[in-house]
Amino acid sequence: MKVFNWLFTGRYIWQLLSLCLLFFFHHAVVAEAIDQVRIHRSPEKTRVVFDLEGPVTHRLFSLDDPMRLVIDIDAVHFDVDLKEIHLENTPIVQIRTGARNQRDLRVVFDLAEAVSPKIFSLKPIMQYGYRLVVDLYTEKQRHTAETEEKIFRPQMRDVIVAIDAGHGGEDPGAIGHGNILEKDVVLSISSMVADLFREEAGYRGLMIRKGDYYVELRRRTRIAYENSADIFVSIHADAFSSSKVSGASVYALSDKGATSETARILAEQENRADLIGGVGGVSLHDKDDLLVEVLLDLATTASLSASLDMGDRILGEIGKVSKLHKSNVEQAGFVVLKSPEIPSLLIETGYISNPLEAQKLANPIHQKRIAKAIFTGVRQYLENNPPPDSLLAWRKAGRGKEQTTYTIVRGDTLSKIANRYQIEAEKIKLTNGLVNDKIRVGQVLKIPAS
Ligand SMILES: [Zn+2]
Repeated sequence: MKVFNWLFTGRYIWQLLSLCLLFFFHHAVVAEAIDQVRIHRSPEKTRVVFDLEGPVTHRLFSLDDPMRLVIDIDAVHFDVDLKEIHLENTPIVQIRTGARNQRDLRVVFDLAEAVSPKIFSLKPIMQYGYRLVVDLYTEKQRHTAETEEKIFRPQMRDVIVAIDAGHGGEDPGAIGHGNILEKDVVLSISSMVADLFREEAGYRGLMIRKGDYYVELRRRTRIAYENSADIFVSIHADAFSSSKVSGASVYALSDKGATSETARILAEQENRADLIGGVGGVSLHDKDDLLVEVLLDLATTASLSASLDMGDRILGEIGKVSKLHKSNVEQAGFVVLKSPEIPSLLIETGYISNPLEAQKLANPIHQKRIAKAIFTGVRQYLENNPPPDSLLAWRKAGRGKEQTTYTIVRGDTLSKIANRYQIEAEKIKLTNGLVNDKIRVGQVLKIPAS
């Protein structure tokens, strides 16, 4: 009873009441502002991001004739010049805004085609504040996202190397000296790696992201799976609080905890990408993690030692063109590497927080050297450990001494096929009685023994 008396003394009541009033007035009178709108296009969707000063409540609904998407946001005003928002290559024709009930905002997207929308908020993290994210999927994008990536190779197949350029879109990754962004540096290096694999017979380079847009961490490995990738390399460029730190490092997945403090801090930084890049309603500690852990226990021993082997080779190659931060493959728990059956590595190509290294990493000549080193390291590993049904395995077994057949797929040329089997094109033409270089999809060619 004593406690009750104490609580109800007038003094406390008044303090509580004035606090409540303050809270009420703050929210009723001071409207938050939307001060920036960003648009990201990916092959799968259009993402519209509203930068906000604080958390908001929102509702989304669509209207027909004409097609519109309406977003009502409470207690907010719009501080962006609509002319600054570029809408080309999006399903949005026009964005309009208007005030509602004096304090609320209505945003209308006039649409050129039907979309399936998804809306969610993101909390502040690192340099970002509150954000409201609207993802628009069109029917066509849904379709291309499902089919475009499929690479089908039933015969002495090419080895598929998935190359994952870290971050992208909303998530710049590390911001380096001279405002060099990790997402740009790593996209450039990654495309160079992919090109090198594309030019090499028996290999395919698969880019996980092809432009400046964000792909969820788990989606990255899923794209690799769906395309039957044999290898997964995630390419990054690190930043550290001290600008003195420099050098490249290679990381493999560890389910047991990081091998060094650096590896642990880095894993935390990289895993945060989903919170920055934006994944609606997915946390890093969702139930998916549990499933992944189980899978890991079942299947990683083999792929971890494969990853370490491949990592050593890549480090050896990078060591020839760049300083190394650590001379051994480190281990840490990266979300993006949690693909138990695919040997996976995360490569930090250097520290963009170091002025000298930032300058080098932004230079295409150095980028090319790093790309070549990654390519050579992966190729060395694969030539020694070729997947059983691959052309590499066939070559390694010396079966070029037997005649075989090859079915033409889209994109093939006679010289490509000749290169693939390391034999002259003329020999193939002669064996098959071809009068010119014309071949057609589905045609079966006899490949003579070399
Ligand atoms: Zn990164």
